[in-house]
Amino acid sequence: MTTVTQPDEATAAVTTWLGQFGEALTANDPARAAALFTEDSFWRDLIAFTWNIRTFEGRDEITRMLDATLSRVQPGGWKITDAREPAEAGGVTEAWIDFETSVGRGKGQLRLRDGQCWTLLTTLYELKGYEEPKGPRRPRGAEHGANRDRTSWLENRDQEAASLGVTQQPYVLIVGGGQAGIGLAARLRQLSIPTIVIDKRARPGDQWRSRYKSLCLHDPVWYDHMPYLKFPDNWPVFSPKDKIADWLESYTRIMELNYWPSTEAKSASYNETTGEWTVTVEREGQPVVLRPRQLVLATGMSGKPNVPSFPGMETFRGDQHHSSAHPGPDAYRGRRCVVVGSNNSAFDICGALWENGADVTMVQRSSTHISRSDSLMEIALSGLYSEEAVAAGMTTEKADLTFASVPYRIMHIFQIPVYEQMRERDKDFYERLEKAGFDHDWGDDNSGLFMKYLRRGSGYYIDVGAADLVANGDVKLVRGQVDHLTETAVVLEDGTELPSDLVVYATGYNSMNGWAADLISPEVADKVGRCWGLGSSTTKDPGPWEGEERNMWKPTQQEALWFHGGNLHQSRHYSLYLALQLKAREAGLPAPVYGLQEVHHRG
Ligand SMILES: Cc1cc2nc3c(=O)[nH]c(=O)nc-3n(C[C@H](O)[C@H](O)[C@H](O)COP(=O)(O)OP(=O)(O)OC[C@H]3O[C@@H](n4cnc5c(N)ncnc54)[C@H](O)[C@@H]3O)c2cc1C
Repeated sequence: MTTVTQPDEATAAVTTWLGQFGEALTANDPARAAALFTEDSFWRDLIAFTWNIRTFEGRDEITRMLDATLSRVQPGGWKITDAREPAEAGGVTEAWIDFETSVGRGKGQLRLRDGQCWTLLTTLYELKGYEEPKGPRRPRGAEHGANRDRTSWLENRDQEAASLGVTQQPYVLIVGGGQAGIGLAARLRQLSIPTIVIDKRARPGDQWRSRYKSLCLHDPVWYDHMPYLKFPDNWPVFSPKDKIADWLESYTRIMELNYWPSTEAKSASYNETTGEWTVTVEREGQPVVLRPRQLVLATGMSGKPNVPSFPGMETFRGDQHHSSAHPGPDAYRGRRCVVVGSNNSAFDICGALWENGADVTMVQRSSTHISRSDSLMEIALSGLYSEEAVAAGMTTEKADLTFASVPYRIMHIFQIPVYEQMRERDKDFYERLEKAGFDHDWGDDNSGLFMKYLRRGSGYYIDVGAADLVANGDVKLVRGQVDHLTETAVVLEDGTELPSDLVVYATGYNSMNGWAADLISPEVADKVGRCWGLGSSTTKDPGPWEGEERNMWKPTQQEALWFHGGNLHQSRHYSLYLALQLKAREAGLPAPVYGLQEVHHRG
């Protein structure tokens, strides 16, 4: 039976624990502090103690981290966040907390079991002396009074745009002006860091405009807000791709970003002695050399196409392209189309081709997980990201922190029941798919879509309708590996021949460190190693256990090189921590990194 304790008791338990914890930390006594945690505890730190993104498991790891950081961090002021009463359910007491360090202010989340800490999240949200000019600190805008040397906002903006990258070097150069690059740039602007974002495409938003025309975001609006600027109340639940493109383009203006369109980064090298990058870019056809101190690659997790190489591709007479280059279905009405792959892009493209009267065959090479969009929204996301959650007082910031408070090591335990529920709810759907011969899975440990995303960034489809086309045979399904292409067909290993006018390779994307290989050198790409994945020893996510996403939003083995990206939710939330790490360096604050990740995989 679940017992629910009165709020007063929960508050008392948290107050007692925080008091003891604060005292142990002030006394500089890591062992005493660690003894307040359960043996199977987790402490996730987003830069507050470690200037890193790390999760510590158990008392020994916690003790070691505190040994190394405590005298510098000098944490204090631990208290329950105003207006958020601790609550207890099922033997776990949850509380939101505030604290300070020697350099900043933090927020956190605490879960107690039997009076000991089971999970702790500590995050930094601002640096003392470098608070963002927002809310009560917002800029005045107008300058009242009389001033003969007055310059207008527009004149100041023009002056800045004309000088940055020409007479003044940016402190940060962000390569890639997708939603990740511009969200980070907006945060850096608030922190007064001279920043340029470059993108090889002609207009902000073009990466979405260039994708196949039927595409809409798979995630709902509440999950997708950009930093500072929320979508208005009339924004559709699933944003069509050209609409999100226009939003991102407007964002670059509203947030006053120094955005260089039609500018491609060609090469970059780092001088360890001067601490400066030399980045050669081509801006509207002209070479320009930039010398930033920090280089951020925001070039997209789904940006570096993994194009397969099959014998005979060079002789195939029809059209063939990677899914990222698929123009849409218009030219293929009445034509025979083979789509290699069975994840998100494959389904979306198959669906759009079928709607346009093409004869479509999907080649499934390995098993895929499918979640129906409605079920995902209702069962998995609605508590944090939905209209109901908003009505119940949930803000994007609270939702993001709640999400971040569950340690990756145990996240699958909470995910498994979600997918059990989904399996039951959509039983008929899964039976029909199976009958059609579709190889469906629920993830290695039945933990479903989100864990697949975190572990390998692939292997799933959020169904918005195309799965039914496969289930009822409108889109033909064949299973197997492609062996070769002839002039007119795709041939599978078992000899099946699929005559085709179009082949789409919906074969996914490569690790982001491939961008570093192209831009900097293969040596630097190897030095930093693979991006993404937790080391869960599940399919496509080899161990050892890392505890956090490899290389994302945190220091890498290459000084002054950073990777930023992920879905809209992750880019929004983690750009805060990346921005503060960059600010600390720009401001010359000591920011020693504890537990820099080791590299176990190159790509
Ligand atoms: C079909 C599809 C559907 C998706 N649906 C969703 C969804 O519903 N929700 C979601 O959150 N995510 C979705 N994603 C993932 C999606 O890729 C990201 O959310 C988003 O586009 C990533 O943003 P980003 O800024 O990290 O990278 P991108 O949007 O890929 O932007 C990277 C930018 O880097 C630029 N660039 C690359 N190299 C250079 C260079 N050398 N010099 C200059 N510029 C360069 C590119 O031009 C590009 O504009 C989807 C992806 C695909 C492919």
